[in-house]
Amino acid sequence: MNKKIKIGNLVYEVENMEDSFEQEDYLGRTWLSKQVIRINPNISKELTEQTLLHEIIHCILDQGGYNQESQDEKLVNYISSSIYQVLKENILFE
Ligand SMILES: [Zn+2]
Repeated sequence: MNKKIKIGNLVYEVENMEDSFEQEDYLGRTWLSKQVIRINPNISKELTEQTLLHEIIHCILDQGGYNQESQDEKLVNYISSSIYQVLKENILFE
């Protein structure tokens, strides 16, 4: 199931592509130049959501010129897992 996500002024195609994940340790990947986010289809719903958010944080940082920060996986993981937790455990927007 592919879908589109608008991040800032760019629209990304979100793909679940089996063949691009020969290596099972890959949860997700993003190609800013192609505006494509790929998520490993062999992972749980919860992990899919977290991975998507993780890739979105990469896009936000890269689009804002924070390329060095975007390469800091520890930072991206911390921001994405924190936002995921807050959004999951609170009803903030109606
Ligand atoms: Zn990452």
